[in-house]
Amino acid sequence: MAAVGPPQQQVRMAHQQVWAALEVALRVPCLYIIDAIFNSYYDSSQSRFCIGLQIFLRLLGIFVSSIVLILSQRSLFKFYMYSSAFLLAATSVLVNYYASLHIDFYGAYNTSAFGIELLPRKGPSLWMALIVLQLTLGIGYITLLQIHSIYSQLIILDLLVPVIGLITELPLHIRETLVFTSSLILTLNTVLVLVVKLKWFYYSTRYVYLLVRHMYRIYGLQLLMEDTWKRIRFPDILRVFWLTRITAQATVLMYILRMANETDSFFISWDDFWDLICNLIISGCDSTLTVLGMSAVISSIAHYLGLGILAFIGSTEEDDRRLGFVAPVLFFILALQTGLSGLRPEERLIRLSRNMCLLLTAVLHFIHGMTDPVLMSLSASHVSSFRRHFPVLFVSACLFILPVLLSYVLWHHYALNTWLFAVTAFCVELCLKVIVSLTVYTLFMIDGYYNVLWEKLDDYVYYVRSTGNIIEFIFGVVMFGNGAYTMMFESGSKIRACMMCLHAYFNIYLQAKNGWKTFMNRRTAVKKINSLPEIKGSRLQEIDDVCAICYHEFTTSARITPCNHYFHALCLRKWLYIQDTCPMCHQKVYIEDDIKDNSNVSNNNGFIAPNENPEEAIREAAAESDRELNEDDSTDCDDDVQRERNGVIQQHTGPAAEEFINDDTD
Ligand SMILES: [Zn+2]
Ligand SMILES: [Zn+2]
Repeated sequence: MAAVGPPQQQVRMAHQQVWAALEVALRVPCLYIIDAIFNSYYDSSQSRFCIGLQIFLRLLGIFVSSIVLILSQRSLFKFYMYSSAFLLAATSVLVNYYASLHIDFYGAYNTSAFGIELLPRKGPSLWMALIVLQLTLGIGYITLLQIHSIYSQLIILDLLVPVIGLITELPLHIRETLVFTSSLILTLNTVLVLVVKLKWFYYSTRYVYLLVRHMYRIYGLQLLMEDTWKRIRFPDILRVFWLTRITAQATVLMYILRMANETDSFFISWDDFWDLICNLIISGCDSTLTVLGMSAVISSIAHYLGLGILAFIGSTEEDDRRLGFVAPVLFFILALQTGLSGLRPEERLIRLSRNMCLLLTAVLHFIHGMTDPVLMSLSASHVSSFRRHFPVLFVSACLFILPVLLSYVLWHHYALNTWLFAVTAFCVELCLKVIVSLTVYTLFMIDGYYNVLWEKLDDYVYYVRSTGNIIEFIFGVVMFGNGAYTMMFESGSKIRACMMCLHAYFNIYLQAKNGWKTFMNRRTAVKKINSLPEIKGSRLQEIDDVCAICYHEFTTSARITPCNHYFHALCLRKWLYIQDTCPMCHQKVYIEDDIKDNSNVSNNNGFIAPNENPEEAIREAAAESDRELNEDDSTDCDDDVQRERNGVIQQHTGPAAEEFINDDTD
């Protein structure tokens, strides 16, 4: 509702929303039917034919419900229109039948009909009621089936004929014939309408089939399913399904409770209320479908929680809006992994609360992932407004206190098992992560406060961060061991095995790889810097220049590149993480790489004429240096070779080297 446009547009949007809500509401019954079929009692003591029939009916029910569930909006409305038209017709026939044959009309002069007291207690009022009822049913029928011609009036007349028979007090057998004829005509008409629509039905089914097949061929199954998922608003349907189901159960349980307690008051005792909630939660995850519904509800909660926190800490990161996706997926996987819906009710509650604890810690980790970049950008940009800093610090403090509280409470109530171990490990890991973030934040803040170049800052930040990463990595390995233990001695399901593999890949392998890469980048950069000549003391005053990266003066020392530009060692190192060329003139800083490049590249792309396309040359150089950095990561380069290379560079520093570099970039 954020878009504020002209009133017409608003009306149109409201209109669309009403239609969308109606569409969702119309699809929900399908889920109810599927759920009922899955949960229905299965009688295996019957004959083989009966069992076969039962299975066939169940499959048919699931198939039809699934089809209706994924119908397009137009077809869905049509389906419901026809179904309700048939229902109206059936009701009308039944009412006629009942009125003509079973109501003692002569007695009705003084008594009631349908259990309703008719006020004047006379026949005419009953007739009137019947006529109005039949008229309503008839009009509803022709409206829903969209019969416009003279034909429609005939149908209504047909429905009224038995009532006329009643009014004129015809003998019983004639009334019977009238009712029969009227029903027959109505049935014939319905069949006729169906036959006429059958052609439309055939063509539209064929069209949809071709469309789906086409889409499947072009986009594949996954995109097709994603598209359907979004088109029918499946999460909304699941939410409505789960919430209405819970509400209905709550109403029934409340009613039973009041019956059992024989009280009339609206309020129930605290214990009863607690029981009620437990029962609702237990039955809220008794099948895969209801677990899905629960996930959808959790998704909404997590989504708004995530948005709220993002707004509170003032982050605009688009990527961080995924909490509404991550939390339900995690919940669902945990439920599958622990076989939640198949457990006995009392076990289910315990398992669910355990899963919820794990989910909570995971969500807290995610929130830490949202606050960390904000914390860093605030400290690095030297924003000093307290109002900007407070929310992030507050959330960080909560992220520290909550896990501590959670572990304390859990350790207080439960004995150690694999689950408690996992939750505690997650909590401790989160606390450590928060401490690392806050330490780095403090370092940057101190740096901002003193406003002089702090040469060691980068090293300190690196040490703190890498300590955090190493601890995280150790926790990843420990959690893997814990998972392996659970799998071997407690419950070994396929889903758990898959999750273990994912964990091993993302939390152990990728983390180790990234850490190693950072370490190697750093080491390479340090080596490159150390290969450059350093200027100190009196020569530094001779230059009387500032560093071209940070515009600060040289206080202790400066490094000089082969292209005769001066930088702080620290500034140049940061630059070399990203690019291998001088920030001033884009020539290569590190000569040894160039020797190798030259021998590799000289035959395939030839030479670029001087200054013909310098930008491309720079880009190429950058790409090459990147590639080499990566190569350095994968193949642990020999220290001896490196030392030898450094030796070569030292020999070449001077005009010869400059010439050499110029040759290469040209
Ligand atoms: Zn500098
Ligand atoms: Zn330069």
